[in-house]
Amino acid sequence: MSTNPSGVTVIGLGPMGQAMVRSFLAAGHPVTVWNRTASRADDLVAAGATRAATVVDAVAANRLVVLSLTDYRAMYDILGDAGGAVAGRVVVNLSSDTPDVTREAGRWLAERGAQLVTGGVMAPAPLVGKDPAFVFYSGPREAFDAHADTLAVIGRTEYLGADHGLAQLYYQAQLQVFLTSLATHLQTFAMIGAAGVPAREFLPYAVQNANDIAMYLEETAKAIDEDDHPGDLANATMMGATADHIVGTVRSIGIDSALPDAVKSLYDRAIERGHGRDSWTSLIEVMRKP
Ligand code: NDP
Repeated sequence: MSTNPSGVTVIGLGPMGQAMVRSFLAAGHPVTVWNRTASRADDLVAAGATRAATVVDAVAANRLVVLSLTDYRAMYDILGDAGGAVAGRVVVNLSSDTPDVTREAGRWLAERGAQLVTGGVMAPAPLVGKDPAFVFYSGPREAFDAHADTLAVIGRTEYLGADHGLAQLYYQAQLQVFLTSLATHLQTFAMIGAAGVPAREFLPYAVQNANDIAMYLEETAKAIDEDDHPGDLANATMMGATADHIVGTVRSIGIDSALPDAVKSLYDRAIERGHGRDSWTSLIEVMRKP
């Protein structure tokens, strides 16, 4: 067999794909690369990667094919031209998309004789291959196991199960925290900035606030799992009044209120449904049944 068992093909050389290639090379894996914009491979080839002239060559080079693309549409654009070359490959798609799209991709690849393992990288590109980085995976267990050691080079592996959509669900669940948190911190800086205060000056308070949020999570998880939302410390009516004050403050200083409006709406609806005296954790009922 001409394929190298420890070799890996990486398709998609944005910041994330490039970081993966460098990690694989550093760990001694032969790496074949292909990218739509070929010049993005130049530095990696100088670092020891092999440039495939075509997608077919890239896919043929190794049984393990890692994709790092903007979305799954890009996978179809690229592998749709690869003909039968994907047969027998394990395609590990570490691109972002929805769970349903990834499930459909699993079927599409299976029809072509390939196995799909989906994944979501829980680290920014500079942390790939470093200690805190981990990756959610799902898909056929044996396909994952066959390449788990190689994939561990990117970061700790967290295998979730056979359903292709699971890794993507976990990934999007974490990314919605990330995106919402980033946006909400920007909102805070905009609010403080309206008083002429530089973001840097407010930074220590913002950092403490971000760090403190974690301490609420254990009790939140308990309340959700036990479906018990005692409001003795902070009930939805009190928190909803504050949500209203945040909206009022933001509007009075003339900045965007979309995020505070969304939060206020959750409180309003929870109170309407009779959760006023329950904990703010009861908002999950509104989220579950909007
Ligand atoms: P980029 O958008 O910078 O790179 C995307 C890659 O996809 C490029 O190689 C691009 O090719 C290719 N691509 C996009 N559309 C097509 C298409 N239609 N046909 C062929 N190739 C296409 O993304 P990143 O490298 O930043 O991220 C890659 C994935 O990793 C994303 O899904 C992202 O959500 C995820 N991720 C990224 C993180 C980060 O820190 N960057 C962190 C965690 C996850 P070309 O070079 O020709 O444009």
